[in-house]
Amino acid sequence: MASHYKDILEKAYNKIHLLENEGEIATYIPELANIDPSKLGVHMTNIDGSNFGIGDHLEKFSIQSIAKVLSLALAYKIVGEDLWERVDVEPSGTKFDSLLLLESYKGIPRNPFMNSGAIVICDILISHLDNAKVEFLDFVRDLSDLPELTYSDKIADSEKRTGYRNMALCNFIKSFGNIKNEPAEVIDFYFDMCSLEMTCQQLSKTFTFLANNGHKISDDKKIISKTKSKRINALMLTCGFYDESGEFAFRVGLPGKSGVGGGIVTLYPNNYAIAVWSPKLNEHGNSFRGMELLEDVTTYSELSIF
Ligand code: GLU
Repeated sequence: MASHYKDILEKAYNKIHLLENEGEIATYIPELANIDPSKLGVHMTNIDGSNFGIGDHLEKFSIQSIAKVLSLALAYKIVGEDLWERVDVEPSGTKFDSLLLLESYKGIPRNPFMNSGAIVICDILISHLDNAKVEFLDFVRDLSDLPELTYSDKIADSEKRTGYRNMALCNFIKSFGNIKNEPAEVIDFYFDMCSLEMTCQQLSKTFTFLANNGHKISDDKKIISKTKSKRINALMLTCGFYDESGEFAFRVGLPGKSGVGGGIVTLYPNNYAIAVWSPKLNEHGNSFRGMELLEDVTTYSELSIF
């Protein structure tokens, strides 16, 4: 099985590498503008632990919104189903940083992967943890068996200097009473959380717990329950790609999450997790070559959740 996937990944990588590298790098976070747009890496980790990668798969990049899946997992583990009183589970059909629907839904974000929803999740973590910044990182290091993982202060500081829209979102939600802590503290943690860096290899390994019913693949330790894992995967399928989530499900057929750093992680339950990184984003904010490559992987393997 593993060698079959290796051939598929190589075939997809070699094809995509020759494609015109369309799209634009995200520059609204100044530090992200310095990334070499030609980077392309992909890494797959199977739940039996076998893994392989190609291209720039061992280079660290800013995983940005992909970290929202991990903060959701921690908050869901801590507060359980009460979480859904603070954030909904519906696709939004609006941009990731939109303020629009918050007015109509009285400060309840449509889902935990929009910036507004992820900010509420950060607020929940701050309420339940002594030091959310430290304990969230510890949680990710533990579930991935990667104690070397860190935030990027450079990226976080860059966003803290310029993230007016996210600050507006946080203050706006606070005005409806759905942020319990001080907005400055919440948004500070949100920017730190988004600054987490990983290589494609580390990212694919980190997400294997969601391909393994909520359990670590190394020692079968339970991170979250099977039900919670199923629900997080469902949210990734319906809300993981901004206002292009339908298109990703249509073309790739797997749950996943993208970030404005150009990363995408996707997983096939009971099989594997794949991380791909190519910084140029399409008009919806998803990695252009990343989506193409993943579409080829499920087309060539003839396997998807559908
Ligand atoms: N930190 C980024 C922001 O809030 C995350 C966006 C993303 O990756 O979608 O704008």
